Amino acid sequence: MSGSGNKAMTTPKCLKDGQTGRVMPVVDFNRCEGKDACVAVCPYDVFEVRKIDPSDYRDLSLVGKIKSYVHGGMVAYTPHADQCRACGLCVKACPERAIKLVKI
Ligand code: SF4
Repeated sequence: MSGSGNKAMTTPKCLKDGQTGRVMPVVDFNRCEGKDACVAVCPYDVFEVRKIDPSDYRDLSLVGKIKSYVHGGMVAYTPHADQCRACGLCVKACPERAIKLVKI
């Protein structure tokens, strides 16, 4: 997933119910190793870890492709990004520092 055109947030604040759709997590697939930490920590089930799509695999750097091979091609997608409340738990939990929050 690309965050191009979005402004990265450095100090996110939790949003209340009804304030969704303002911030979303963006996962850097060159860093993500599909370790599930984001799935476990997100209170709103934003993430899903699954095999990387072929089109996303093609966009990986050479190092990213090597890492992908080593960890079985699993990465975290954000099928419910519209439910993000900007709590920042996933950013802190990711061992690969692969997640950032961006303003929509
Ligand atoms: S910032 Fe919070 S609500 Fe948003 S995806 Fe991360 S853990 Fe989920």
